[in-house]
Amino acid sequence: MEVDVENGGLDVTALPDMSDDEMVARLKGIVLDHETKWFYRAWLERRLVGCWCRACETWSLPVRRFCPNCWSTLVTIRDLSGQGHVFTATHLLQPYPFAAMGPKTSASATIELAEQPGLRFASEIIDTDTVRVGMPVTVTWVEVDGLPCPFFRPVDERNAAPQ
Ligand SMILES: [Zn+2]
Repeated sequence: MEVDVENGGLDVTALPDMSDDEMVARLKGIVLDHETKWFYRAWLERRLVGCWCRACETWSLPVRRFCPNCWSTLVTIRDLSGQGHVFTATHLLQPYPFAAMGPKTSASATIELAEQPGLRFASEIIDTDTVRVGMPVTVTWVEVDGLPCPFFRPVDERNAAPQ
């Protein structure tokens, strides 16, 4: 597979074309650079993506031009399953401004994604009054100020894959 040098070495062929001007217009309020724009670009299609290193077969986040494990630039953006479990959670006594624009959240949390131990993503937990470490969760897309955002909600533990 040919690496797109124009995109800093990131293979972004999994994402449809969109000009930088259009991305900036559609991703208002998000600070973008030429690496992170691909991560947020995927949100517009309600896709959670990460970097997959073709050299050492390791996932990484945030999106960057090289693999933090082996420093290879053979990095491809791929879809993540959106499945994982709560790694840490913080119940906020004072509403977080971001949450005030969207649904009522029960906790800010770090989600360990199912693809790989240590692959984590910070988000919000919704649709529950109880959040605990280790709880299986799945991504759910919520529009906040016109932008689809990846929040997480509990899944029925009887149907969840083993962690
Ligand atoms: Zn690597």
